[in-house]
Amino acid sequence: MLGSVCSHHSWRDQREDAHKSLGRSERGEYSARMIHVGIGYDVHALVAGRKLILGGVEIPHTKGLDGHSDADVLMHAICDAVLGALGEADIGHFFPNTDPRWKDATSIVFLQEAARQVGQRQGKIVNVDATLIAQQPKVYPHIAEMKKRIAAALGVGEKQIGVKATTNERMGFIGREEGMAAMAVASIEF
Ligand SMILES: [Zn+2]
Repeated sequence: MLGSVCSHHSWRDQREDAHKSLGRSERGEYSARMIHVGIGYDVHALVAGRKLILGGVEIPHTKGLDGHSDADVLMHAICDAVLGALGEADIGHFFPNTDPRWKDATSIVFLQEAARQVGQRQGKIVNVDATLIAQQPKVYPHIAEMKKRIAAALGVGEKQIGVKATTNERMGFIGREEGMAAMAVASIEF
């Protein structure tokens, strides 16, 4: 390359080669595709008389999470992680809990919207990893199904989705089974 920099023709060839291997930014400039990482966190209270929906799966339990939508704390954290990787506002901005349209809504629609925004920017979800923090019930038997539903909502493969669960060692509000929390990261290439 150094030997040919004086030739106008090969300089242009080199520039075009470089452009082929680079992506185009939002402003139309050429720039390298990069990985963007987002983080999401959510928490909901556990109350009697509500279904417990986690990762799109209804799990038999004595209590469920309270919220305007189905209160799927795991999907909400993942949604915020995806939106965060886009540099966007959080889930509440797009789906305000004052809007009757989202009353008891399945959180699958929130993930679909986040995925739509990724696609709109020619982005690609590389992977998502999430941890649910809940004292009870045991969610391990449901994790494979959660991954399947999260992957379907985001339009990615199951291997791109990580879901783990931990207790809070009986400490704090989660340990007292007053609520559940979830955290997630998402990486997006664009
Ligand atoms: Zn939430």
